[in-house]
Amino acid sequence: MNSRASYPISSQVLDAAWRRPWGAAGPAENSRRVKGPTIAASDALIIVDPQNDFLPGGTLAVAEGNRIFTPINALSPRFPRVYVTRDWHPPTHAYFQEHGGPWPYHCLQDTPGAEFSPLLDCSHVDVTISKGMDPATDGYSGFAGTDLAERLRADGMRRLFICGLATDYCVKATALEGIAQRFKVCVIVDAIAAVNLAPGDEKAALEAMRRGGARLIVSTHLR
Ligand SMILES: [Zn+2]
Repeated sequence: MNSRASYPISSQVLDAAWRRPWGAAGPAENSRRVKGPTIAASDALIIVDPQNDFLPGGTLAVAEGNRIFTPINALSPRFPRVYVTRDWHPPTHAYFQEHGGPWPYHCLQDTPGAEFSPLLDCSHVDVTISKGMDPATDGYSGFAGTDLAERLRADGMRRLFICGLATDYCVKATALEGIAQRFKVCVIVDAIAAVNLAPGDEKAALEAMRRGGARLIVSTHLR
């Protein structure tokens, strides 16, 4: 599949994402000139893991995590269906450092760190998907061990607009799995933020999603 041919503005938006020309309010200055997709009845907004532990003050904080909420709260009332995923780990999870894994404890079931950020407007959320309960699998993707794909198909959803945390792990995994599950996938680059454990992780994740067939868009270009 030639994603460049299918999505002619992807490279332009990708460049913009790398340069990050916008502040918290979004890239309003060029929003009238670049036309993005029009939101349709079969479009789902997927908000990945907007949880306290992934935000400043949390145990696995994404430094710029709070920037996602202004565009997400503006978009969620415009979508016919809104799905939110959440990490919902048992303390026995193999991906915690205490058990030899890469991550500190985060998003433990029924703890404040696992709750959605108070900055998220939940009033338009239709479905909450819990993931990462299996201690043996990483649970990065919103589809991993969940019924998300079945729920989306049952609801008549065909195209997914993905936002949330974090670009280089759960957003990337959810986008690529969505494509593997035969959904069309758009990633909203001003409504995601990266861990950047190593410099360049964010750029590599954006490129991996684009190469995998995701269309990279800016929230203010949606019509
Ligand atoms: Zn996790």
